[in-house]
Amino acid sequence: MAAPITTISDSKDRNNLNLIAAHSHIRGLGVTPDTLTPKPVADGLVGQQQARKAASVILQMAKEGKIAGRAVLISGPPSTGKTAIAIGMSKGLGEDVPFTMLASSEIFSLEMSKTEALEQAFRKSIGVRIREESEVIEGEVVEIQIDRSVTGNNKSGKLTLKTTDMETLYDMGTRMIDSMTKEKVMAGDVISIDKASGRITKLGRSYTRSRDYDAMGADTKFVQCPDGELQVRRETVHTVSLHEIDVINSRTQGFLALFSGDTGEIRSEVREQINTKVAEWKEEGKAEIVPGVLFIDEVHMLDIECFSFINRALEDELAPIVIMASNRGSATIRGTSYRSPHGLPLDFLDRVVIISTHPYSPDEIREILSIRAQEEEIDISPDALALLTKIGQETGLRYAGNLITTSHLLSQKRRAKEVEVHDVQRSFQLFYDPSRSVKFVAEFEKRFIG
Ligand code: ATP
Repeated sequence: MAAPITTISDSKDRNNLNLIAAHSHIRGLGVTPDTLTPKPVADGLVGQQQARKAASVILQMAKEGKIAGRAVLISGPPSTGKTAIAIGMSKGLGEDVPFTMLASSEIFSLEMSKTEALEQAFRKSIGVRIREESEVIEGEVVEIQIDRSVTGNNKSGKLTLKTTDMETLYDMGTRMIDSMTKEKVMAGDVISIDKASGRITKLGRSYTRSRDYDAMGADTKFVQCPDGELQVRRETVHTVSLHEIDVINSRTQGFLALFSGDTGEIRSEVREQINTKVAEWKEEGKAEIVPGVLFIDEVHMLDIECFSFINRALEDELAPIVIMASNRGSATIRGTSYRSPHGLPLDFLDRVVIISTHPYSPDEIREILSIRAQEEEIDISPDALALLTKIGQETGLRYAGNLITTSHLLSQKRRAKEVEVHDVQRSFQLFYDPSRSVKFVAEFEKRFIG
């Protein structure tokens, strides 16, 4: 039985959540585990097989700790799945592995310095898996009273049992089914009850106790108390990010800042103390470091100061996997007058492994849009899907993906069961894609301002 895992807290800001929602259909890289060969459609990902293969090789290296000091750059035209692939990589690392998304323009704010914003993003991307032990009630079932008002239903009844301290009687109301075997609990059974969830686990009959103890999951432990009683303990695991620990321990901000997102700058002494503490927990076996993924979008927007910060941060023992994306070819490195590939300084490019993505075929676009519709539980008629595909080809996947949602709203208004062609046509008229919007504003300027 796997230990219950609390995933990384959802303290990401709304912007970040919105960005991630558009990718909620992605569950991994969709490759076969041994050969790392991408399946045409798997884990919510479609096509882009070469890039997915490369991403899975890098992921494998990261799992083996062989990618330290390096970063990944995914380059390709807009809407070709750069973010989708980065998310696929983070899912491949495990459910509680942190994934942080940073749009490069976000770091230019008045509230904190660029390097502080980057430092926070790095620390949000490193998880600390903390183990905690909690006591569960254990006892022998001495009596079961069936509630006579409910007949013929095994699940009903009142269960009363003696706990280990022999004083507390535990009333389980109507729950009397073993959570693992789904077997009915009977008088004479030795069971444990998780105090927090109320889950019952049958340890065996009282006369076979010691043997059944060995059969329990690795997350349940038996502890011999001084008075000779056996106590049942269950291990729970929580994962929090280094940044969350920083904020909670930073006296000026306090933990409430986690909700407002208004963390301000965190003093370097706080971070040093946290690093020491986490290293101690690690030493004592109480915690494990989980390097996550930091995804930096529009990386050409960063300036030379940011690149030297990242260069240094990648060398750190506690570095996440840094994945950057750019849809620019050659660009000027901000803060200098030099041009370079993707706007990255040459010494930084040396550290970078490049993956490229390519435009999609109409079939792939249709498949992706249809997966998005399923994810949002929206039925679309074949004709409407064909029209959305055509729009996707011309304006990009992101706009076509958004039209699924708006067309659905329109179809709901007329109480239709599925999205039809005219719902898509109407949303297309109501909501502009970027190129039509630019054209409209340009014409407006010509007519009224120019
Ligand atoms: P940009 O350069 O504009 O930031 P991008 O290359 O990061 O774009 P995404 O945001 O990943 O593009 O893709 C746009 C939308 O299409 C998202 O909803 C994404 O999940 C989906 N998508 C893109 N590629 C795939 C794919 N291969 N399989 C499934 N969904 C995809």
